Amino acid sequence: MRPVPASLFSLALLALAGAAPAAPGFRVETLAPGVHAAIRTDPPGLMVDANCLFIVNDEDVVVVDAPEASAELIEALKGITDKPVSHLVNTHWHDDHVIGNATWRKAWPDIRFVAHPSLSDYLPGTGARNRRAMIADAPEAAAQMKKQLDAGKNLAGKPISDEERASYASDIALVAHYMAVVPSTPDVLPDLPTAGDLVLQRGTRRIEIRRVGRGHTEADLVVWLPQERILASGDLVVWPVPLVGGDQSHVADWPGALDALLALKPALVVPGHGPVQRDLAYVRQLRDLFADITQQVRERRGRGLDLDAARKTIDLGDWHRRFAGTSPVRDALFRMYVAAPALVSAWNAATP
Ligand SMILES: [Zn+2]
Repeated sequence: MRPVPASLFSLALLALAGAAPAAPGFRVETLAPGVHAAIRTDPPGLMVDANCLFIVNDEDVVVVDAPEASAELIEALKGITDKPVSHLVNTHWHDDHVIGNATWRKAWPDIRFVAHPSLSDYLPGTGARNRRAMIADAPEAAAQMKKQLDAGKNLAGKPISDEERASYASDIALVAHYMAVVPSTPDVLPDLPTAGDLVLQRGTRRIEIRRVGRGHTEADLVVWLPQERILASGDLVVWPVPLVGGDQSHVADWPGALDALLALKPALVVPGHGPVQRDLAYVRQLRDLFADITQQVRERRGRGLDLDAARKTIDLGDWHRRFAGTSPVRDALFRMYVAAPALVSAWNAATP
């Protein structure tokens, strides 16, 4: 297929999606006095935008993560308070958590950006390369989904279910929004880098920016409100299926990070994607999944198998059923974001 300028694709996609985005794509939930989570309402799918947390203090606001929908999030925040945003914490380096930085800075020029120091290397390097690839490829993927929708078939060529229909329509709208926002937005790097030992005392509010260990990326930070016992986990916790990158994630270290998170005994966990977790069952399920994958890979490697041979003998069937149930969308997500990359990540970390 001949390459078409991304802007044309973007316009076509806006039309496909029915002029994006009609709804803001999130709802705001108040979790404690002054603590508001903006939770995405999209159905599970291949495309995601991130959750966001507003922490309204005596004099100012601290925000966690800067999703692609930051312009809409700023509008929502202004409906809650007119206090200025003093700090924004990027929980890691992926676009759906950092691309909005420039938009927040435009609204509050004195804002400071808190993140792991590695963002300053990642964003101009690997991050910029990955973004260029996404901008080049996403419109075609969305166009393919539109074709499948029109044909009444899923991406595997089988009759499409209602769940898949809603998921593809959401992906198409999210790609359109991505193309409308991301290509024209510059990076804003952290100006308050932290390895995970920063406390922001804002009036009576204590906000701890911690590193519980690496898992989803090297740069994972969490935000902990000890008085309210609320934790924003970034993508260390993602529902309904974790997001694993074969070369960016650290599956063997992930259980330790989740154990450290569980040791805080949070009352509420705001995940990077998915609804607020009101108990810790799902976090424990993630911890057990990654511990089991790590153990199975280590055992195969210890027996001298290579990765291909190991892959054939590693059984994730129970996990697949627990995460996917009977949902074809979650089944596809588990294959793509867990089964394939998690084995590679665990393999790379395992020593015989
Ligand atoms: Zn991420």
